[in-house]
Amino acid sequence: MRKKIVAGNWKMNGTQEEGQKLTSEIVNMVKDEPVNDVTIVLNPPFVHASNVKKLIGDASNIFLGGQNCSDKASGAFTGEVSAPILASFGASYVILGHSERREYFKESNELLTEKVKQALENGLTPIFCCGEPLEIREAGTHEAYVKDQLTESLFGLSEADFEKIVIAYEPIWAIGTGKTATSEQAQDMHAAIRAHIASKYGQELADKISILYGGSCKPSNAQEIFSKPDVDGGLIGGASLKSRDFVDIIK
Ligand code: PGA
Repeated sequence: MRKKIVAGNWKMNGTQEEGQKLTSEIVNMVKDEPVNDVTIVLNPPFVHASNVKKLIGDASNIFLGGQNCSDKASGAFTGEVSAPILASFGASYVILGHSERREYFKESNELLTEKVKQALENGLTPIFCCGEPLEIREAGTHEAYVKDQLTESLFGLSEADFEKIVIAYEPIWAIGTGKTATSEQAQDMHAAIRAHIASKYGQELADKISILYGGSCKPSNAQEIFSKPDVDGGLIGGASLKSRDFVDIIK
């Protein structure tokens, strides 16, 4: 059985107070309303890490994650946060290669290989994002585009390391736009991603990898998308900032 995961990506949102309120509400709702076997990850801006970790407390199904980490372990890199620092604050996951990082911070597939290595060396589970822009979808070359992202960043990993990766497929045209992929489009791409992983690492390993969908997920569409056989959960942006919506998506 693959792990079912719902991860909230707060992006650059939330004051200290808002972050604490949001976390407490989520933790309390999840305590009161059983969410079965879903692994929940909260990925706040870095400075919230300590507060969020404390508020998660002993909830066994809620984990702290980062939205990025450096490709270096330490040193003179003003403004950066490393995987060892994140891990020392109790993080278990880190989102890597989000399309906003790729676009605004020029993160390349090669750089992401180094970030993934840093995460793995420090016991963090990478939530590795991939996904195509609209013009690639319209040209019909989206599967090849996403496969290349995976090959270039991840296919140098050993089997033992690859097994620790979580993939998030996020079509860029669906992020923050209110326009989701249809459940069929998500399933088709997730199946293509799994087949691609199988071609390199074998079917048995590919069947163990959780592949999350991201892009305008909300309570009204999550059930339909997550019910598809190769969709193992979601990476949630906007809707993860509202506790009720986030918990409804998890449920
Ligand atoms: P969205 O963002 O849910 O607001 O579309 C998803 C993401 O970017 O991870």
